[in-house]
Amino acid sequence: MNDLRIGLGIDLHRLEPGRPCVLAGIRIDCERGPSAVSDGDVVLHAAVDAVLGAAGLEDLGTLFPETDPKNRGRDSAEFCTRSLELIRQKRLRVVSLDVVVETELPRLKPHRSAMRERLAQLFAVDPDRVNLKGKSAEGLDSIGNRLAIRATVVALLAPA
Ligand SMILES: [Zn+2]
Repeated sequence: MNDLRIGLGIDLHRLEPGRPCVLAGIRIDCERGPSAVSDGDVVLHAAVDAVLGAAGLEDLGTLFPETDPKNRGRDSAEFCTRSLELIRQKRLRVVSLDVVVETELPRLKPHRSAMRERLAQLFAVDPDRVNLKGKSAEGLDSIGNRLAIRATVVALLAPA
């Protein structure tokens, strides 16, 4: 287990009424959802940035620019698949992911295990190598006021 690499990814989106709410690839029933050019999956965006960062690769926004019409409404799972291909080319694999989602809406508890499983599947790791915690913002700031959602992910990579 020499040559371990750690990456950090952070993503924030506005929450807007009527937008679909997809988090960690799981569609969640919610009155608000993240607004974005893509499907707005903050968890997958932060996870991809953490994985790419650990591998010393370009970030999500550079690889998949918002200005590219191909990325409009795009399923963020495709960003995960592509980032996995890129780290494999560098002979790296994901060892673990630790995820914190700051949000008042939706409540994540009922969806946590599905979200972990989906993340594990997308990044080709065992579900017990993926952790996911929801945190409220205690009614403070834009997250506390249900106007935004933020995900922070730490990824550990090792030689494949
Ligand atoms: Zn994003």
